[in-house]
Order: sequence, then structure tokens, then C-alpha cells
Amino acid sequence: MTFEIPGRLASPEPGWTISADVIVVGSGIAGLATAMHARRAGHSVLLVTKARVDEGSTRWAQGGIAAALADDDSPADHLADTLVAGAGLCDPGAVQVLAYEGPAAVRRLVRWGADFDLDDSGELALTREGGHHRDRIAHAGGDATGIEISRALVQAVTDDPKIELIEHALVLDLLLDAKGAAQGLTLHVMGAGQRDGVGAALAPAVVLATGGIGQVFASSTNPSVATGDGLALGIRAGAQVADIEFVQFHPTVLWLGDESTGQQPLVSEALRGEGAVLLDDDDARFLVGQHEMAELAPRDVVAKAIMYRMRETDREHVWLDARSFSSATWERRFPNIRAACLGHGIDPMTQLIPVVPAQHYVSGGLLTDLNGRTSIAGLFAVGECACTGVHGANRLASNSLLEGLVFADRIGSVLAAGLPKRRPIEALRGPSALLDPALRSVIQQSMTDNVGVLRTDTSIRATLDLLDATSQSAQVGVTQPHTAAWETTNIALVARVLADAALIREETRGSHWRDDFLEVDDQNWRVRIVSERLDDSQFAVSLRPVSPSLENQ
Ligand SMILES: Cc1cc2nc3c(=O)[nH]c(=O)nc-3n(C[C@H](O)[C@H](O)[C@H](O)COP(=O)(O)OP(=O)(O)OC[C@H]3O[C@@H](n4cnc5c(N)ncnc54)[C@H](O)[C@@H]3O)c2cc1C
Repeated sequence: MTFEIPGRLASPEPGWTISADVIVVGSGIAGLATAMHARRAGHSVLLVTKARVDEGSTRWAQGGIAAALADDDSPADHLADTLVAGAGLCDPGAVQVLAYEGPAAVRRLVRWGADFDLDDSGELALTREGGHHRDRIAHAGGDATGIEISRALVQAVTDDPKIELIEHALVLDLLLDAKGAAQGLTLHVMGAGQRDGVGAALAPAVVLATGGIGQVFASSTNPSVATGDGLALGIRAGAQVADIEFVQFHPTVLWLGDESTGQQPLVSEALRGEGAVLLDDDDARFLVGQHEMAELAPRDVVAKAIMYRMRETDREHVWLDARSFSSATWERRFPNIRAACLGHGIDPMTQLIPVVPAQHYVSGGLLTDLNGRTSIAGLFAVGECACTGVHGANRLASNSLLEGLVFADRIGSVLAAGLPKRRPIEALRGPSALLDPALRSVIQQSMTDNVGVLRTDTSIRATLDLLDATSQSAQVGVTQPHTAAWETTNIALVARVLADAALIREETRGSHWRDDFLEVDDQNWRVRIVSERLDDSQFAVSLRPVSPSLENQ
């Protein structure tokens, strides 16, 4: 695979330098939990984040966090459900870590101050979501789980004077030593007094916890900060990326009209867990008979069924019927979803809710071993930007918050055992051009139209052609390090690697649906696609067995 990789060395010389033992990039559940563990390991921690500390996908999480906490549940059952959702591509070792270490991680989160909803006997109230065969989703504030987790972790981190937090700091590129190990990064701080402008942060351990890639698509449930920056800077530095073609499209976001782009309000599947059903224009429950779990089937099954029904009926959305819920249920379980619906003129107590699929989650990312280590020494990845092998071809609902917690803990254990060596930085190499921000919406729309829920060879190639054309324009694009240009450059790079993997995988599996290859092809494709940058224009793509994800180094 050959194409230009823009972005590296586009920033001017750093104007200032800061040092720490550990740098954590991102302040969602994964970054905040990693910062806590790194501190407990006795290290000085620099936590940098692109916007305000509470921005990111974490605070938007509604449904909850999955763990085998009920008496009638077990990690083995959680493991089994996760493997089914992952459609043959999960790394069983990673899922074992998730399922067996999950309950302790959630209890630790409670000790760190997260206030989850309790049942009448004072135990954690647990509900069920799509693909889970047991009640195992802990939630807070009804449907405000992410807000509560973020509040508790931000409080814990900011209470610790040895964790230095820099907000409004856009991380640009990785700094490597002569052996190719991570030794820090460049960042652009906006309006923080002494540390304004482009600087360098140095540390022998760098943890990327930069979240998802929602803004690579035209519509997503992800907030505006989710532009795939960590993934892009990892790719530029030569880290391996896997499973990136497996993008989960949430079946039910509130339909706000054809023209609506950017972050869209999510209508959690917890509503379907409580009995809401999907209807087409003729009031027919079209999921019944398509899957034994009907509306509670795995997300990919539901999203594709919706897309096909929309095609068949030539409609822009389907309907979710939650009119059977009592007002007490709305108040106790779904106050925010009801408020979002009311804010758009729909009263879900008396009206059907128009819903449509939108980008929601990327199962792949920077390939890690079971301790969060990427293929670059000293560089760790955790949370949505990482690919631990837990999700395989499709994430099971509410496993992502848990993944961030569990693997943050594992990175903490590695850091507690000792830090990598500090070495001098090698100069950044590579072309120094960024994309014109005007290209952003063009790329996003092309990704949604051509590399979205339903894909074909022809549609994916159309997007790749567009990306080829945009990469040419990078040579004449802007070179000043402002956020919009960096984000557009990152979006284009992630889109390129994703579309390439989607083109290569000639089968339908999990959340990757090829209209021109409708079957699962275990004989040829029960492998993961791993991409890796070789130089400024060459990418190596290899097919690997699903386990282990990345040998422990
Ligand atoms: C609407 C919605 C509902 C969801 N519901 C659930 C649910 O119920 N259960 C569940 O398990 N999962 C859910 N998810 C998924 C889950 O919320 C995310 O996968 C998870 O929160 C990701 O956590 P994270 O820490 O990896 O990333 P995030 O929480 O997204 O945090 C990423 C951080 O990185 C920072 N960052 C990004 N780029 C840069 C950069 N260049 N420089 C500096 N900082 C940067 C961001 O500002 C942010 O602080 C939901 C997601 C959404 C969007």
C-alpha cells in the first residue's frame, strides 16, 4: 500500500519543554484511571487533554458498565457473550482478562467515588443490554453513567497534587529516541500562560488514551474531540494498528433530519433492554424472526436490519416505541434521553421516536499486548484508541468503559515494575504539510456514504480515490499548527487506513458488512488485518492469527 502520510514535523520547533515520569494523553475513563494507577506506582504524572478535562466520549456514556457482579452471573458467562459478539476475532486471552478482572475494577471505581444506582437491597442495580444473557450492566443516575464516572475520576485526579493536568493541549506527534522508543511528544497548548504555543513534553513512558474516531464520519454519537488523533500520531510514528475496519454503528440515534451532521443524540439500547421495540412505517416489528434475541440482538445485526428496512421502505429512519414505559421508568432510568427527545419536539411517552444508525465505536486501534504495550517501546495505548483484542469484530455493549478500566490497571502494574530508560530525542523526520480544514466535511461524508454500515468494493474505492486526491493537496495545504488543520490531517490518515482494511477484508463479519461478500469466510478471513507505516509513503499490511494480539515484549 502506498500513499503520502502528511502531518509529521508540521509543527515549528517546540518553544518550551516539560518533563515527567509518565505522560498520559486524554482524560476519559482510560486516561484518568491510568493517571491514578501511575501515581500509585509512585511516578510523577503529566495528564494532557485537548479540551476541558471532562470532554470526551466517557461523559456521554448512558447505558453503563458491564461486569459479572450478580449472584447468578459469572466471568465465564461474560466471556462467552463477549466472544459471540466478537464474531470469531476476539483474542480469548484478552477477553479472559476483561471478564475476570472486570468485577474488581468496577468495585475499585466505586471506592474511587463513583456513585452507581443501587437496588432495593442496597446492591448495585444491574440491567441487561443487547448480546448479554445476564443482568450485568451497572449504571449511575439512570442514564448518566458516564457523567458520574467522569465526575468521580476527575475529582480523584485533581485532588492529587502530583498529577499535573494541562487542559486545551492538543498533542501533535510522538518524540522518539535513536532506538525508536517513545520519549515524549509535541503538543500545542492554547492559552495556558507560560506554556502557550507549541512545546515538548518528555517522559520515558507515554500512554495514549485519546478515545475514538467518530468525527472521521459525517454523523456519530461521539463528541467533537473524537478525531482519531492518538491513532493517527501512533500510525505516523510506526505503531501497528489492527481491526480498524470494525466500526460499530449504533442502531438507534435520534434522527434529526437528513442534513444533520456531527454528534447526534444517542437513544441507548437500555431502552430496548427495558422492553422498547423497533417498528417500521407499517408498525411491524421487523427484528422479530430475524434473530432469536429480536431487538436485543448484537448491534451489527440490529443496525443492518434497520438499514435494509430503510432501503426497502425508502424511508430515512425507523421508529422506536417506548410508549409502554411508565413515567416512573422515564424519570428513574432515562431522564436524559427523555429530555433529549423533548428538546427535539418528541415526547417519547406518547410518540414514537425516529431513529437511525450512526457511527458509535471503533473496535480496533493501536495494537497492544495484554499489558497495554504497543509495538513501539515506551508507548502504551488504552481505552477506545487501543486494540487489546477484546472486541474482535464487534464490541459487546458496555464492554468499552470496562476495557478502559481493566487495562489501565494493567498498565499501572507495568509502570510499577519500573520505567523504560530515558534517552535523547531523535529529530522528527518526514514531510511537513497539513491538510486544508475545508476537506474535513468532504472526507467525513464520503466515509459515511461509502465505508459506513454497508460497504462494497466500488464504494470503498470511491473514498480511497478521494483520499488520494486530498493527500496531493497536503503539499500545498496549511502548515501552521492550528487545531482544525491537525484534526483534518488526522481524520484523513485514519480514514485511509480504515478504508484500506475494509477493502482488503472480502467478507462480512461482525460490524464489517460487505454487500458484495455477504458470507462470513472463516477459511480465509479468521485473521486480523494489521497495518504499519514503513516510511513516508509505504504501508505494510499483514494478516495475523487472532491470538495473541501482540506478543508480550
Ligand atoms: C453517546 C455514547 C454513549 C456510550 N455509552 C456507553 C456505555 O453505556 N457503556 C460503555 O461501556 N461504553 C459506552 N460508550 C463508549 C465509551 O463511552 C467510550 O468508548 C469510552 O468512554 C472511551 O473512553 P476513553 O477514555 O478511551 O476515551 P474518551 O472518553 O473519548 O477520552 C478521550 C480523551 O482524549 C482527549 N484527546 C483526544 N485527542 C487528543 C489530542 N490530540 N491531544 C490531547 N488530548 C486528546 C480527549 O479530549 C478526551 O479527553 C458510549 C459512547 C458514546 C459516544
